[in-house]
Amino acid sequence: MSPSPPPPLKRFGQHFLIDQNIVRKIVALAAIQPHETVLEIGPGRGILTRAICAQARKVIAIEIDRQLAQILTDFCPNLDLRVGDALEFEYGGLPEGTVVVANLPYYVSTAVLFKLLESSHKIDRLVLMMQAEVAQRLAAKPDTKEYGVLSVLTQYRAAVTVAFRVSAHCFRPRPTVGSAVVHLQVKSARLLDAAHEARFIRLVRAAFAHRRKILVNSLRDEGYAADSVTAALSRCGIAGGRRAESLSLDDYLALAAALDDEPRPESLG
Ligand code: SAM
Repeated sequence: MSPSPPPPLKRFGQHFLIDQNIVRKIVALAAIQPHETVLEIGPGRGILTRAICAQARKVIAIEIDRQLAQILTDFCPNLDLRVGDALEFEYGGLPEGTVVVANLPYYVSTAVLFKLLESSHKIDRLVLMMQAEVAQRLAAKPDTKEYGVLSVLTQYRAAVTVAFRVSAHCFRPRPTVGSAVVHLQVKSARLLDAAHEARFIRLVRAAFAHRRKILVNSLRDEGYAADSVTAALSRCGIAGGRRAESLSLDDYLALAAALDDEPRPESLG
């Protein structure tokens, strides 16, 4: 007989799903094929794990809580359980086409998502439960209050859809924030090489660093040369008086490329 589960730990964001209907909806959304490998972050007491194991070829699950991990040992024959921190895991070693399914620990949901997306070449799609407010930010479109760094950088790597909301009644203990399940389909082509990507990310962060300022001023305050910014903006047909939240992902990609082409002081004879 398996040991009874330990009490939930707040510090690990433990809000366990107790509703099989939500489990079915998550698994259906993930559309797992029998040949696919699934990565689960935080299997907890295993309610999702069991359902995923029934569909996938193999499930790799990372659980930080050693006591919980004990109850998952010998859980399903195709479960490869790793005890450790999802923020430390080497996602680059995953098989290509991995599907990620998780009811994320909310205190690290965006950090874990960004870490996963750094290895997006190994991932086909992600189905993630997270705070509803974060889900809205990931999927937000320009000119909305939710649109920001999180939206642009996530949409750069994946097509994001908020699939459905989940009531607090579906968890034990109940979370105090709203929850939603998000579907992220990773974009197959990597859009930029590593060096250009780093500059694009820096630009997006700088643009949103001063949300209320116009773009030229915001970028200048973050160390960009005002002349270069003005020239790059005009080459992209973007008015300098616009604010960060009005630019689309394509605008940011174009602007990053145009700024790369601008001569820098050290390259001038
Ligand atoms: N999947 C289970 C469910 O749906 O009932 C549990 C979800 S619970 C919201 C989050 C799980 O992630 C917990 O089991 C928690 O111990 C685990 N966890 C928290 N922080 C973690 C981390 N940094 N790395 C791996 N697992 C973590």
